[in-house]
Amino acid sequence: MHNETFETSGAHLQKLNAPCLGVHDQVFIKRDDLIHPVVSGNKWRKLKHHIESAFTAGKNHLVTFGGAYSNHMVATACAGAALKFKTSCFIRGDELQNNANHFLKLATLYGMELIPTDRETYRNHKQELYETHFGQNPAAMMVDEGGSGVLGARGIAEIIFELPFVPDHIIHASATATTASGLLRGLSTRPGFGSTKVHSIAVLQNTEEQLQTVASLEPRNPYEINPDYTFGGYAKTTPELMAFLKEFSSQTGILTDPVYTAKALFALKSKIETGEINPKETVVFLHTGGMLGLFSESMLAQL
Ligand SMILES: *Cc1c(COP(=O)(O)O)cnc(C)c1O
Repeated sequence: MHNETFETSGAHLQKLNAPCLGVHDQVFIKRDDLIHPVVSGNKWRKLKHHIESAFTAGKNHLVTFGGAYSNHMVATACAGAALKFKTSCFIRGDELQNNANHFLKLATLYGMELIPTDRETYRNHKQELYETHFGQNPAAMMVDEGGSGVLGARGIAEIIFELPFVPDHIIHASATATTASGLLRGLSTRPGFGSTKVHSIAVLQNTEEQLQTVASLEPRNPYEINPDYTFGGYAKTTPELMAFLKEFSSQTGILTDPVYTAKALFALKSKIETGEINPKETVVFLHTGGMLGLFSESMLAQL
């Protein structure tokens, strides 16, 4: 499958010179945010093999699931439009209008069919929802929420094969741990990369679930998901986090979002401060994208 809309060669590795991270001149940033201006870098990585398997199976309709602020929903809508797939998404919350926020509007712009779903059914009956609406449709293929699972992790693993050197540390924002699992898989399959340490920074309070995901996709013992930088939970922020996000943008010209990447960057700053990551070691910060999270009204109001 080749598609220039999602060319990953733009996702280069660049040296970071950001005084707000502390004293360390071996920090690099992997620019997956440059894969696409709207689609989260890691959401494209996670979708890629799902879409390939849909092509192979002769399907032309992707059906998925997401909350009203889902980067995965917008990514699926955009990728579908670019690659000539129909797309549908069950939306968590049947009170939502299609134009309730910029995520839903963008998904609609890309031609996605949105199916508002009450929260209980959404939580407990995804398979039945799919069967009821699309079970009779031979062209349809279900893609799990977030593009998770083995296929999602496989796309993430490719990031490791794009790195020009073996870093001592990789640090990234983690929500379902599909990205974490994919990075671990890449490190164990690319010769010479076995000793790199991955720091997965939880952006919400679900570390037990995340550990189970890693255990099922890419078992590692021991493996840690860092619970110290959730800032109160999913999409929660503090004035300190927002001040840091502003400082980072003004020092680098690189945007981050308060839901995911700013939290992981903040963790990096702390680890440099405490010496857990020492100045002689090389660090790759994975910028997973997520720009839409910065541009919501509530986040902009806090800047
Ligand atoms: C979804 C997302 C993540 C989390 O990825 P997981 O594979 O669910 O852990 C991180 N960063 C951004 C920008 C995302 O959109």
